[in-house]
Amino acid sequence: MNEMDTKSIISEAESVLMKTYGRYRIVLEKGDGVYLYDTEGKEYLDFCAGIAVFALGYNNKEYNDALKAQIDKLIHTSNYFYSEPSVKAANALKKASGMDRVFFTNSGTEAIEGAIKLARKRYYEKKGVADSEIIAMEHSFHGRSMGSLSITGTKKYRIPFEPLIGGVKWAEFNDIESVKAQITDKTAAVIIEPVQGEGGIHPASKEFLAGVRELCSEKDVVLILDEVQCGMGRTGSMYACQQYGVKPDILVTAKALGCGVPVGAFCATEEVASAFKPGDHGTTYGGNPLVCAAVNKVFELFESLDILENVKRTGKLLEKKLDEITESYGFIKERRGMGLMQGLEFSIEVKDIIAKAIDSGLMLISAGANVIRFLPPLTVTEDDICKMAYILTGVLDSVSR
Ligand SMILES: *Cc1c(COP(=O)(O)O)cnc(C)c1O
Repeated sequence: MNEMDTKSIISEAESVLMKTYGRYRIVLEKGDGVYLYDTEGKEYLDFCAGIAVFALGYNNKEYNDALKAQIDKLIHTSNYFYSEPSVKAANALKKASGMDRVFFTNSGTEAIEGAIKLARKRYYEKKGVADSEIIAMEHSFHGRSMGSLSITGTKKYRIPFEPLIGGVKWAEFNDIESVKAQITDKTAAVIIEPVQGEGGIHPASKEFLAGVRELCSEKDVVLILDEVQCGMGRTGSMYACQQYGVKPDILVTAKALGCGVPVGAFCATEEVASAFKPGDHGTTYGGNPLVCAAVNKVFELFESLDILENVKRTGKLLEKKLDEITESYGFIKERRGMGLMQGLEFSIEVKDIIAKAIDSGLMLISAGANVIRFLPPLTVTEDDICKMAYILTGVLDSVSR
């Protein structure tokens, strides 16, 4: 096949791919560290990391070599057999999450589906009837498949696809009274993102998360924490809930877990996990040797590169820089976030600002119409953050004039 030029790649993409995304007219070709390069050779400082996926930055040699070695050995086995990479990966995840058992999936949304099924199965085992309810939060995001969509707080994502799964009740994030008001004898689970991502970067308050934990324990309800975005070191601890001192019954992880290969997982305590019996759940690809070789290398590199330390240090600088920017522009309302998961809320729409930033060589994404999200690779340096702030300031100056 001939090498396609940038224009023809874009026009063919528009004719062959489903029109589910409004894409920027950029064709990305390669990445290195915190930088991306397009087919025209233009360089971008990346503060999206493929939506919180590339925690280790692009083109990490050790990671690439581990994948290549596993490709030459064995890519896939099916889950009817054991393989060493998946056992190692499950153990590493067990240790990182503080949970007892792990089920690997191919994506975040699929891990959420599994978590819903597990919570419902536990309820069914206990009560002998299938009439359970789940309490989800307003402005939450849990994915695009039918179950995940059913518990996603943004109405416009849900309505065209109804009827969705039943028994979902809504509570206000950071409002313990509203969760109490929804809890009944039928509640199987409460699901929360410790830091809401797509909903606009809203960290849970300490009182709220601890309060929900207490409430769930008291009522024998499963607490599911969705750490697909805020997990894997993003906030400065392996999982955000660890900074809250809150242990869930089910923890859901994905995005940075494989740093680019499709892998997610839901993990649970022994008591909750024991509700699943052989045949209750499955996946063909989930947790195959290839993706698990990636997961193992990711956990190894988190240690050897001291990723959590870097997040804590650079996260502080990112907060400081964004606070300075917030104070300088009347159209920025506030900064919110934890570690290297930050958001700036504007009083105006951010679409054009992001387009200008990308034009200026800085990759950013939004979280809703008014929030710019900052999710750099977790290997980002203080210099990178200063450079980001410099480019962004230039863009904001051109907007305010
Ligand atoms: C991205 C995301 C998901 C869905 O993950 P996919 O891999 O896109 O299916 C679920 N929950 C949260 C909090 C997310 O940010």
